[in-house]
Amino acid sequence: MGTPHTKKKKIKRKWQVFQGRNKFYCNGRIMMAKQTGVFYLTMVLILVTSGLFFAFDCPFLASNLTPAIPAIGGVLFIFVMGMLLRASFSDPGVLPRATPEEAADIERQIDTTNGPSGPGYRPPPRTREVLINGQTVKLKYCFTCKIFRPPRASHCSLCDNCVERFDHHCPWVGNCVGRRNYRFFYLFILSLSFLTIFIFAFVITHVILSKSISIFLDGCTVLEVVVCFFSVWSIVGLSGFHTYLISSNQTTNEDIKGSWSSKRGKGNYNPYSYGNFITNFCAVLDFHLNCNKMYIILILAIGRGLCGIRQKFKIGGSLNVAFFIYYYYVDRLQNFNLTGLGST
Ligand SMILES: [Zn+2]
Ligand SMILES: [Zn+2]
Repeated sequence: MGTPHTKKKKIKRKWQVFQGRNKFYCNGRIMMAKQTGVFYLTMVLILVTSGLFFAFDCPFLASNLTPAIPAIGGVLFIFVMGMLLRASFSDPGVLPRATPEEAADIERQIDTTNGPSGPGYRPPPRTREVLINGQTVKLKYCFTCKIFRPPRASHCSLCDNCVERFDHHCPWVGNCVGRRNYRFFYLFILSLSFLTIFIFAFVITHVILSKSISIFLDGCTVLEVVVCFFSVWSIVGLSGFHTYLISSNQTTNEDIKGSWSSKRGKGNYNPYSYGNFITNFCAVLDFHLNCNKMYIILILAIGRGLCGIRQKFKIGGSLNVAFFIYYYYVDRLQNFNLTGLGST
C-alpha cells in the first residue's frame, strides 16, 4: 500500500513500452514498420510523376481542352496521398503481448489440460478450437506474444507482433495491413489506379495534340509514360485482387494459405463471409462504423444549429418540438457510442 507521500508515477503510454519492432513518431500518433525505405520510394514515384504532370502537361491541357483536367487530377492526387499516409501511419491493429502474469496463467491452463509432462514427453501443438458459424477455427499459440491469437490474427515477422485480421506486411506503405488500416490501404490502391490511368491517358493526349514539343518536355513525357505504363498493370491488378478478396471477405493471408479452399475438404468454407458482395464490402471497409460516426457528427451539428437559432432569434415555443426530437436522438446516440464505437 502506498503512503500519501508516495510520489505519483509518471504514466507510461502503451506505445512507450511496446515490445515489437515498430517505430513511433509524434508522441505515438504515427506508427510505422522498422524498414521504411520502400515507403519513401512510393512517395517519390507518386510525387515526381504527378509533379511532372501538373507542371508540364496540365497548363497545355487546361488551355487547349478544359481546366477540369488539372482540377480532377488535383483532387485525385490529394486523396491518394491522404490514403497513403493514413495507411502508413496508422496502427494496423497490433495485439498487445501478454504480461508475465497473464503468460503464467495461460501456461498453467495448458499444463492442466495436457496433464503432467514427464521425461521424453512431447507436448502436443498449442492450439485451441473455436466454432465460428459452424466452422471449426484453430487458434494458434504465439510463442513471442504469449497469447492464443484471436481468429484471423497473425504474427508479422518484420514488425514482430501479432496483428488483428492480418492481411499482409506491405513494404510499399511501410506498415502492416490489418484490421484498422485495411480500408485506407484499399482506398489508396484503388484511387492510385485511377490516378495512374488518368495521368497516362492525358500525357498521351498531350503528345498527340501538341505538334511541336521541346526536347526537355520530351524527356519528362517519356519518364511519365514509362512510370505509368509499368505501374498501371500491377496497381490495377492489385486493386482487382483486393476487390475480389473484399467481396468474399477474405484476407491475403487466408487466400495464400488457401484456408477456405474447397481442396481442404468438402465442408470447408469461409465462416466470415456474409454470402453477399455488398454486405461483405460494408463489413470489411467498416462502413457501418463510419456511417455511425457520420450520423453522430450530423446530429451534433443539427443540435448546435438549433441552439444557435434559438439564441439569435429568441424563438422558444416553435423550436421546442425540434428540441424534443433532437434529444430523443441524442439519447439513442448514447447506445451507439457504447455498442458501435466501443467495439473497435
Ligand atoms: Zn505474436
Ligand atoms: Zn508488419
